[in-house]
Amino acid sequence: MLRGIHFLLTYACNFECDHCFLYCGPDSEGTFTLNQVREVLDEALKIGTIESVYFEGGEPFLFYPLMVEGIRIARHMGYQTGIVTNSYWATSEEDAGLWLKPLAELELADLSVSDDAFHHGEEQDNPAKRAMAAAKRLGMPVDSICIEEPTVELGIDKEQDKGAPVIGGGAMFRGRAVEKLVDGLPTRPWEELTKCPYEDLRDPGRVHLDPYGHVHLCQGLSMGNMWESPLSTLVKNYDANSHPICGPLLGGGPALLAKEYAVGHEDEYVDECHFCYTLRLALLDRFPQFLAPRQVYGL
Ligand code: SF4
Ligand code: SF4
Repeated sequence: MLRGIHFLLTYACNFECDHCFLYCGPDSEGTFTLNQVREVLDEALKIGTIESVYFEGGEPFLFYPLMVEGIRIARHMGYQTGIVTNSYWATSEEDAGLWLKPLAELELADLSVSDDAFHHGEEQDNPAKRAMAAAKRLGMPVDSICIEEPTVELGIDKEQDKGAPVIGGGAMFRGRAVEKLVDGLPTRPWEELTKCPYEDLRDPGRVHLDPYGHVHLCQGLSMGNMWESPLSTLVKNYDANSHPICGPLLGGGPALLAKEYAVGHEDEYVDECHFCYTLRLALLDRFPQFLAPRQVYGL
């Protein structure tokens, strides 16, 4: 049951992280207008099961007034709200408090701060630590997200064969992470990649919405376009089995997706997402409505 909607408020970001699965950066375009935010929240109400509304990006604080107003409207409608940020704005703890106070007054339920070397190098006194300290001082619920460079360990994942290499670090091999991070990592035969391990494509609990109208089930994998068909209608009519990409993924993971559309591929991939993303890239022109926008594929 769909319980959460996550606005990708903008694709623009002041960072350009190697692990970014949306290929965001300073040149990325696409930002919601306030009217579009309102329209989406009205549609969310019609769905009837939405409990929480998140504002993410890109970097949502780059459009601070829009983000605050979106949260104000969402709170007025009774939703729990959250933000995911790289916290570039936390120049000092005191100044971070200036940015956070209006959000504390709106009773923001979750502030998620990226605190890792991809975002802030190895500095100990970094913007994420300052943002977290300021949030705690204001009594706000805050947590950190930490993604590290991929590491290779042996057989600690019960899902995999004992002794098989397991990739740690938390990066998802989609988007820019595929371009920047997969070299040198251990791989598995494509025939073994027979499921989608991370997303509930049949009955998604949350979707990400972008300014072009795409309703993402996974980054760059769209349910449909909410500017062409209202969000509540898209959600009501969504049938994973008849979706041209989700259907095969549910039936047999990326391996079946490759077979279904006879996509040429390598013999081995780092994991399911690496294979899935590579196949989707090859299928972009065939399914432009469902594999979009092109910019999250680095194009
Ligand atoms: S991972 Fe986050 S901070 Fe890094 S480029 Fe992507 S949106 Fe920006
Ligand atoms: S297998 Fe594909 S759809 Fe599933 S989480 Fe990975 S990239 Fe997303």
